[in-house]
Amino acid sequence: MRAWQPLALAPLLDPAIEALVYRAPQTLLQWVQRFGSPLNIVWPGILEKNVATFRAAERRHAVRMDLYYGAKVNKSQALVRAAVEAGIGVDVSSEYEMRDALRAGARASQLVATGPAKTERFHRALFEGGALISVDSAEEFAPLRSLALNAATGRKLRVLLRLRPASAAASRFGAGAEDCAVALRALAELRGHIDFEGFHFHLGGYDVESRAQAVRELADLVDEARRLGLAPQTIDIGGGLPIRYVDSAQYDAFLRSQVAAHYRNGKVPASFYPYGGRLDAGEWLDLLLESPCRDRQPIARWLNVQGLRLAVEPGRSLADQAAISVFRIARVKALAGGRHVVFVEGSSFSACETWFASEFLLDPILVSTGRSVQGPHRAYIAGHSCLDEDVISNRLIAFEAAPQAGDLLVYANTAGYQMDLLENEFHRHPPPRRVAARVDAAGAIDVSTDDDRE
Ligand SMILES: *Cc1c(COP(=O)(O)O)cnc(C)c1O
Repeated sequence: MRAWQPLALAPLLDPAIEALVYRAPQTLLQWVQRFGSPLNIVWPGILEKNVATFRAAERRHAVRMDLYYGAKVNKSQALVRAAVEAGIGVDVSSEYEMRDALRAGARASQLVATGPAKTERFHRALFEGGALISVDSAEEFAPLRSLALNAATGRKLRVLLRLRPASAAASRFGAGAEDCAVALRALAELRGHIDFEGFHFHLGGYDVESRAQAVRELADLVDEARRLGLAPQTIDIGGGLPIRYVDSAQYDAFLRSQVAAHYRNGKVPASFYPYGGRLDAGEWLDLLLESPCRDRQPIARWLNVQGLRLAVEPGRSLADQAAISVFRIARVKALAGGRHVVFVEGSSFSACETWFASEFLLDPILVSTGRSVQGPHRAYIAGHSCLDEDVISNRLIAFEAAPQAGDLLVYANTAGYQMDLLENEFHRHPPPRRVAARVDAAGAIDVSTDDDRE
């Protein structure tokens, strides 16, 4: 048995995953036999390594940083537990994410709750636990205010105000600077009941400059808060830090050379995640913290002069490399024009980027069970359902050896939204199993279930 290096877009692999896929592919095959296909394998130790990358940036810039794992990125309880065990907080957007974080050992005071439509029950649980709540709007503030005023315990409500930065003027998330200023006046009057801890924003996209600009917008609001006698402590810049899935030069070359004929449907998607971006999360943070704030002093210095902590809520970047999704091939079928379609046991609801009119631009790694015929061999990858849209890779992948039924396809780096965002039980297939892999000091690999089934 051997694992074949893909040709065009080789996924970057953590060394532990590379060792499993290329040096112990029979282990992978045994796990798929035992747990079924597709099999999601999460690596809690890798999430902990990613936390260390953030901590290193914190030290480089001598800032004080609060990290919150953006729990929506993946349904794995083992990854939430890894975040908590690494000593960081959790960004929760539902009572279920909150429950899982508490179950993983987090204290409620280590949670920050974001999202525009938190329910009354969720508000109450957050308040009673002492979690930090990012207030999205005046409309959300009204019920929170009553909750705080009517509290029997004398407990104070902890809040951040979510800014809608000028660059996201049409967004439905957060409140504009003027509305934030109005909220500050209300908060100044409610000081006996509410602790205002600072400001929050979260932007789509992955660029540094829009975040730097948002921090500059907050500088005036921080001053305004202080004038009103409030004591902001935290600037929470949300998530959206990038990760690199494939080598940057290889990726640029791929983008330059791709044409419609490379896709089974004759269409190059209009946009992609920057899979081969130049920055990883640590470099992105360097750029942000060195970006000019007020009076051209770097953001890091402005934070320190102001006595502010930087909070970050990374989802995807903390989950970088922290899972792979393994599909067993059910059937390979010849199509017109020398093309093939590889049907897998599983669907595009696991590894789901095609459902966002885009494509997960990493080549799957073929783990061949033996009888492989030398390639090249072009095939797209389809799920087992009866939906024409159920395609995991529309791109015709160039395999070095012809894939065969029973072989495995490994999609790397699926922890960040790919793996289980759209997971469901279509055709009544049970949801894919999830297991957690851990490598011990001697290099031995152990796997345990990470879902609610036995
Ligand atoms: C989704 C989300 C995050 C995490 O975003 P990533 O792109 O996964 O880092 C952080 N904060 C908020 C408010 C979010 O909605």
